[in-house]
Amino acid sequence: MHYNAELIAVGTELLLGNIANTDAQMLSEGLSALGIDVYYHTVVGDNPQRLREALEIARKRANIIITTGGLGPTYDDLTKQTICETFGFPLEFHEDIWREIQDYFYRRMKGGKITENNRQQAMLPVGCTIFYNPVGTAPGCAIERDGVRVLMLPGPPYECRYMFTHQAAPYLQSLTQEKIFSHELRIFGMGESQVEATLHEMMVKGANPTLAPYAKTGEVMLRATAKAHTQEEAEAMLQPMLHQVKETLGDIVYGEDVESLEEVVLAVLKEQGKTVSFAESCTGGLLAKRLTDLPGASQVFRGGVVSYTNAVKAAALGVDEALLDQYGAVSEPVAKAMAEGCRKLCGSDFAVSVTGVAGPDPDDRGNPVGTVFLGLSGPDGAICRQIDLSRGRSRGHVRHLAASHSFDLLRRKLMDLPL
Ligand code: ATP
Repeated sequence: MHYNAELIAVGTELLLGNIANTDAQMLSEGLSALGIDVYYHTVVGDNPQRLREALEIARKRANIIITTGGLGPTYDDLTKQTICETFGFPLEFHEDIWREIQDYFYRRMKGGKITENNRQQAMLPVGCTIFYNPVGTAPGCAIERDGVRVLMLPGPPYECRYMFTHQAAPYLQSLTQEKIFSHELRIFGMGESQVEATLHEMMVKGANPTLAPYAKTGEVMLRATAKAHTQEEAEAMLQPMLHQVKETLGDIVYGEDVESLEEVVLAVLKEQGKTVSFAESCTGGLLAKRLTDLPGASQVFRGGVVSYTNAVKAAALGVDEALLDQYGAVSEPVAKAMAEGCRKLCGSDFAVSVTGVAGPDPDDRGNPVGTVFLGLSGPDGAICRQIDLSRGRSRGHVRHLAASHSFDLLRRKLMDLPL
């Protein structure tokens, strides 16, 4: 059986642009991980007539309809009633849910008054699968009519994600004997559209396994997904695909089933028993933050210096003032000297330095925004790479990209890959 879903988000504030439809994004991602195709996203205001029309259209073209929002106790929360009228589902009162709503209400809204409207939330369609809501008041549910399953989820993003992950996804999974297995490849050094163009044939080729790209900040994640009865069967489909992607893209694939470049760098440093330190200027400590966000960082990270001014570059890292005067802080000789000084100061095997212009204005020597020099000092000397991050959308973005490039440079050095 092929399942295809339509998402209907209910809420006038979505149409007014007051909030973004993040529930839809989260659900689409979750559904694609389950191997369910999503063909349409619809947004409709808090209006029963228009919601009915949207439901009538959706039931003709999807066999899974997922609504978000409008399950609350207020007058404009009309999703459940409208769905039940449209599909002809009678509603019944659930004493146990009513008790849970009261419990939640008294625990969370101390002194608040529960209203008769809250009772509405304990009314659910006869014969539905109930999705309990321990993180809010509105329960959700799933019910089927004429081969179309309707799932109702709450609007608040935290509740929606919780209910999807813990109840709706297992419910959808149980519709099929097959399970979904997937692996993720992380890519740094090629944009999403180029990755897509390079792997186009593999991406459009088959329905099982599938290969889909997701853009992350400054990098790309590729998810290979297979539907199969067992892990073994899935791996037999997935491994050749992963192998082919790695062959095609080469060393820009930096990891499989990992979260970030720094995670890979940490693992390799640990494996090799090496340590690192950072001399940061424009990243202001971001490298140190990203690495120490990971448990186990203390085994490989010696420390660092945020040398934001020339005075600190000279005093703490021992950068020659003549170099700073002659070339400026944003330059190759200074980047190298920062890395060398930091390695010495911290007593680490490697040191990475970052000096550049994060913006929004060029520096006093006229270096444009996005000019960044990365230094890397190791047992066999120091090198420098200049990178152009002028495509960075903001100060924060330039800093994030500069930190990612730094981790990638270190990864390449540690793994003997071309620098
Ligand atoms: P409640 O019990 O809080 O009333 P509900 O299920 O009735 O929940 P809504 O009243 O429609 O949901 O929305 C509650 C809040 O959830 C909205 O004000 C909005 O902040 C957020 N929200 C609703 N729909 C979405 C959506 N599709 N994407 C992101 N946020 C949403």
